[in-house]
Amino acid sequence: MTSVSTPAAPETVLEARGIVKRFGALTVLHGIDLALAGGEVVSIIGPSGSGKSTFIRCMNMLEAPDAGEIRFRGRQVGSSFRGKGDRLGQGELRRHVGMVFQHFNLFPHMSVLENVIEGPTTVQRKPRKEAVDIAMDYIAKVGLAEKRDARPDQLSGGQKQRVAIARALTMQPDALLLDEITSALDPELVGEVLGVVRGLAEQGMTMVIVTHEISFAADVSDRVVFMEGGRIAEQGSPDGILRNPDNERLKTFLARFH
Ligand code: ADP
Ligand code: MG
Repeated sequence: MTSVSTPAAPETVLEARGIVKRFGALTVLHGIDLALAGGEVVSIIGPSGSGKSTFIRCMNMLEAPDAGEIRFRGRQVGSSFRGKGDRLGQGELRRHVGMVFQHFNLFPHMSVLENVIEGPTTVQRKPRKEAVDIAMDYIAKVGLAEKRDARPDQLSGGQKQRVAIARALTMQPDALLLDEITSALDPELVGEVLGVVRGLAEQGMTMVIVTHEISFAADVSDRVVFMEGGRIAEQGSPDGILRNPDNERLKTFLARFH
């Protein structure tokens, strides 16, 4: 008898279940579900104020959800958990799930290298020598080896953002969350940063990318999620969502980018 082998479904790395988030009387997330498989690239698009940042911050527990849960490799994450048994503390989650922000968030008084080794030496308690070796590898990968001793104010916006990416990668995360990382950049600097992200996608990095770069999202994503009013209004393949949308509000949203 011949058997047809089917590849095992990739393991879910990070999962949001029924995430609700309120700020005072305002409910900004109305129960969001999203499961991110290993190696998957999911882009989140949607109008300003639709809850994209709040949701991605919940995925890393930078915002505590009011209801629902975050799971990392099947383990529920909680602010009061200490990583016992099948539960994971939020500090531990952040060691596995890196984040890059719109405004870089680099330490202004530290060099590129010092910024990048900060996490590995303080959070992961790696010996400095080992942290420097890993850091220099990623600093070179984002094309900034010769800038290792520069301070952030001596760098362009695109270079600063590449440092922020190297810093996240030096933690050797299982997944990366990117929140509009090119939105604060001059248009001519966007390409160099997207090029780095594209390289990560090609190498199989698991990522959630909040972006307004629609053609980039179409190219690199396995799945595109359209958020509106704190809900997932539509999701699917880049082809279905971005090239042949049938949702009227999604069409209206996308028309702005043409
Ligand atoms: P997006 O990233 O899609 O632009 P956000 O997640 O930043 O959306 O915001 C969603 C909604 O939540 C907006 O109405 C915003 O004003 C509100 N909001 C976000 N953060 C806070 C906060 N810390 N306090 C109060 N309201 C907030
Ligand atoms: Mg945002």
